[in-house]
Amino acid sequence: MFSNRLRNLHPYVPGEQPKDRDYIKLNANENPYPPHHSVCAALKTMLDTQSARLGLYPDPDTNELRDEIAKMLNSTGGVLCRATVKDDGTCIPSAQDALPQPITRDMIFCGNGSDEVLSFVFYTFFDSDRPLVLPQFTYSFYPVYCGYYSIPMEQIPLMPDWAIDSAAMISAAQQTDSCIVFANPNAPTGLALTRAQVAQILDKAPKNRIVVVDEAYCDFGGESCLPLLADYKNLVIVRTFSKSLSFAGMRLGYVVSAPELIQAIFTVKNSFNHFPADFLAQTAGIASCKAAAYYAENARLVAQERDSLLNFLRQRGWFALNSATNFVFAKKEGHAGSAVYKAVKQAGILIRHFDTPGIEDFVRITIGTHEQMDLLKNVLEAL
Ligand SMILES: *Cc1c(COP(=O)(O)O)cnc(C)c1O
Repeated sequence: MFSNRLRNLHPYVPGEQPKDRDYIKLNANENPYPPHHSVCAALKTMLDTQSARLGLYPDPDTNELRDEIAKMLNSTGGVLCRATVKDDGTCIPSAQDALPQPITRDMIFCGNGSDEVLSFVFYTFFDSDRPLVLPQFTYSFYPVYCGYYSIPMEQIPLMPDWAIDSAAMISAAQQTDSCIVFANPNAPTGLALTRAQVAQILDKAPKNRIVVVDEAYCDFGGESCLPLLADYKNLVIVRTFSKSLSFAGMRLGYVVSAPELIQAIFTVKNSFNHFPADFLAQTAGIASCKAAAYYAENARLVAQERDSLLNFLRQRGWFALNSATNFVFAKKEGHAGSAVYKAVKQAGILIRHFDTPGIEDFVRITIGTHEQMDLLKNVLEAL
């Protein structure tokens, strides 16, 4: 009854979304702050005054949304937590994040969450005739898509300090003339490569093969690779509205790369689903980009709480990796990760634990509001 392909599928397991109790959710790296009121207002106005448009197909090219994403990136440099908010409510990038060339609409592709966008990217650029090079521990959807598209993998162990081993990634890609994918900052570690380190990967890896950098968490720290697009035509950057733009419940993700590559992704999208970004998502997404200043302040609050949690854990003998994201990856000697997860859940707070050998001692804690983090700290203190 079933296709042979089905056997290759090993679905991704997202952080649980239980209904039995009102947990504080620190397990799926969602944003603790609500969308800006202008986003809700845009949706309400649309429903009140243009509801007939719900009966019509949305813009398949998401043109207005792509323009607004470009504006947001140009005014923030792709790192919201460092963008300066000016008196008129617009943003400018920090000097470190300034873009040498502006991002334009033809450099952007938009889809139904970055998971879907990643699926299109895998289909567009990766073949089954050679392995895809990726870190052993990184976003666990990449191996799922490799199964989906029958792409062999070469998983490169992390360094002893849990950083991505860029030298080993480079030599693996050179040996098999392969493409590369990784998240930067990486998940679930939270550690980031510098832009210079990514540039070195691009310099040494095969020039005619794609390097995908997933910047899902870049707005919370680290350095974006957007400035490298001017120099590297094989660089594909994937970003999402889900984390820094408080948008996980609607769905929007996007690619930024050279226009020729974007065109190819459009070909794949138009061979699968013309309209992955629905009218409501496009409407709300446009309003979100215009409220970048609000999300920049939220990203700063999250980064502050993250650093405070890191200090808290380290002062109490935890081993906690540095984080350039909205989560912390940490373990405590003598406490199994699964036990910490269970004890914290009993107290009404959900965090994430992975059974995967090698990281099973760790828990991953999403950064919430100040109040939520105080509650979490009390629970951890009592452990
Ligand atoms: C959360 C996450 C995504 C998925 O984001 P969506 O846009 O919600 O699909 C992609 N990559 C990484 C590394 C993530 O952590």
